[in-house]
Amino acid sequence: MTERLYYTNPELLQFDASIVSSVEKDGKYLTRLDRSAFYPTSGGQQNDLGKLNGVDIIDVIEENDDVVHLSESIVGNEGVQVTGLIDEERRFWHRQIHSAQHILSQAFARLHGLTTMSVHLGDEYGNIEVDSDHVSQSQLDEVEKLANQIIRDNLPVDILFIEHTELSNYPLRKVPTRTGRIRLIKIGEVEYSACGGTHVNSTAQVQLVKIISTVKIRGRTAVNFLCGTKAVEDYCNRYKIVADVSQHLTCNISDIPSKIEKFEAELKEQSKELTKLQKELLPVKASQFAELKMLKNNIHYVVAPVSDLNQKLLGNLCGLVADDISGIAVLTTDKKIAIASSVEQVNASEIAKVLSSELGFKGGGNQKAAQLGASETVDVKTITEKVNIFLDEL
Ligand SMILES: [Zn+2]
Repeated sequence: MTERLYYTNPELLQFDASIVSSVEKDGKYLTRLDRSAFYPTSGGQQNDLGKLNGVDIIDVIEENDDVVHLSESIVGNEGVQVTGLIDEERRFWHRQIHSAQHILSQAFARLHGLTTMSVHLGDEYGNIEVDSDHVSQSQLDEVEKLANQIIRDNLPVDILFIEHTELSNYPLRKVPTRTGRIRLIKIGEVEYSACGGTHVNSTAQVQLVKIISTVKIRGRTAVNFLCGTKAVEDYCNRYKIVADVSQHLTCNISDIPSKIEKFEAELKEQSKELTKLQKELLPVKASQFAELKMLKNNIHYVVAPVSDLNQKLLGNLCGLVADDISGIAVLTTDKKIAIASSVEQVNASEIAKVLSSELGFKGGGNQKAAQLGASETVDVKTITEKVNIFLDEL
């Protein structure tokens, strides 16, 4: 069994130990020590990284009460003395996020009677799953406020070791089922939890907690949160972006939402105006397309792609072209096809049927007009061939 140095001192970043065993497995070296300050992945907290005698430790796992250090090259053989170095920044982040999770879980329990069912403490943000399928925004706001009060109060975070028989003496958030010696993390007088993780020394080291989103999952709510150095970084990034936007819009930060609303309304108005103008110009556009007419089986027809046109006007334009040439018009945009017929012997919906069955388009219509949609970009050349064959076979 490895003596876990982080149990009593989460600030310890350098330590001496001796190798108990060294094994090669699947191209990796597995080193066990008599004592280690490396945290192995467990309880929702990720492993530490660092070095053993200068060799990079790429993963740390738990196996039968032992801490196992994984590396690409050998650290040393059994009996060799080693010096371990823990990656400071990664460790501190894990301490911040784990304490932030305890504080948030306590706030959910205390304010709304919600139990934390599982936790995940990631590289960028943390996640706790609470036992309710609905948590309101005001509940989240209250939880965040209490969590930040606990942080501001700079409460000491203590590590206690007790026997399981003493558990009833402590107001634990969740009573563990394990027996024997139990490690407790105590935050001031507000939060007690059985936990093997690494924590900050006092709540002020968590800096701040910010709930960023929630997701409903398996009848529960997963709450994603930022804290510590990552929350401060995030604040600085967001501030920079918002300041940039306010400069572009030449307005105060607080006026950004109303300014964007105003722009959206203007854009909508302009788009309406543009559609109106395009509609008025449709006859001119139609006569340009009419010049492309070809003859097959004594029927005039046009097959052509259309750009720079509101999609809603494609059918109107197609009808005008067919009328202009007293024949058939097939106009396409990127993923839409309009078909129009101004001659009795050709039914637009029959052409639509052929294109649907042979090229996989979806849609339909009537004698005079039909419309089809495509999932991929429409190939005008292929459509021209199909229309040619159709007119030939009339
Ligand atoms: Zn914990």
